[in-house]
Amino acid sequence: MAGQTVPPRSASALAGLLDSPEIGRLIAELEATRWTGRPGYPLRAMVGVALAKSLYSIPTWTRTVALVREHDALREAIGGECPSVYAAYRFATKLRTYSDLLDACIARVLDRLRAERPEFGRDLAIDASDLPAYANGQRYLSKGGRERERFSDPDASWGHRSAVSTRKGGGFYGYKVHAAVCARTDLLVAWRVETARAHESSFATGLLDAAKDRGFAAETTALDMGYDTEAIHAACEARDSRPIIPLKQTPGVKAGKANPPSCEHGTWTFAGADPSRVASKWRCPTGECKPGSRWIKADRLHPLVPRETKRWKSLYRGRGSVEREFGRLKHEWALLPLRVRGIERVRLHADLTILAKLACALARADRLPLAITV
Ligand SMILES: [Zn+2]
Repeated sequence: MAGQTVPPRSASALAGLLDSPEIGRLIAELEATRWTGRPGYPLRAMVGVALAKSLYSIPTWTRTVALVREHDALREAIGGECPSVYAAYRFATKLRTYSDLLDACIARVLDRLRAERPEFGRDLAIDASDLPAYANGQRYLSKGGRERERFSDPDASWGHRSAVSTRKGGGFYGYKVHAAVCARTDLLVAWRVETARAHESSFATGLLDAAKDRGFAAETTALDMGYDTEAIHAACEARDSRPIIPLKQTPGVKAGKANPPSCEHGTWTFAGADPSRVASKWRCPTGECKPGSRWIKADRLHPLVPRETKRWKSLYRGRGSVEREFGRLKHEWALLPLRVRGIERVRLHADLTILAKLACALARADRLPLAITV
């Protein structure tokens, strides 16, 4: 996946995904629900159109169906028959009903990726990113007028986005995708879409649990300063994952409580951590103190991977993976612009987009060993 940023846009890539055991089983399980859609398009065609939407980075079903209809090779890849736009909408509704089958398919793809590369998901990075709604978020019907009572997307809400490089921060109306990303491969291992108003820090623990449920025992988890709370540090440690979070300048920090211990001989040095006792060991620089070392219980001020260490700095650099991947999903895999309304539809759209990307990564891994980006 290193260097691979653009979706493979070939009919054979699409056929390959539909033929893979992981997607093939989704098709079979959907068939077993005895739902074939009206007027009876095969499930392979329906799943094929859903994946083509992300593979060809197309925001709408209408344009996806038009593309498949025009191209013989694509039509052949999905089984020869192109579904109607109406059937695609109905299929999306059905997939929301059978979201457990979709979840199971995603879990199978992640399992296989981990089998290919055991380091997959060992170091995670968690963050959230904005998904502006396909709706008018204006608070007032007209300038100085009456407050809008009905929004065209009632699940969307006003949230805040931070400034990124040249883009200004500020308010936006819509949703946020919260995700845990493998810092080595940039691939998502767990995610959830929530209304924009909800604060990111409330979802970090849930993402760690979701990653664990999918078989990822993350040794470290990198998050930005917005997540620097005692609760998140404790939640990471409770899941046996070392938190890598920059220090927020809280009053205790300003009072020097996060500083390493010191004595008349100078600042004490880090001498290792013991996760089983959730404490790190610090040593008098000259060894003249008696005792020459002591244990400090881990907390947000004294994490087991101290912020002064090279290891911490290197792991924190891995946090860049989550921003890079959000960028790719949005701009190259059509996660944005949203062209659906309502949180359940936005969730399905995110699931299908991310599944398409993961399945492509797996298809590549089958041909050549997974590249490592660090
Ligand atoms: Zn000393």
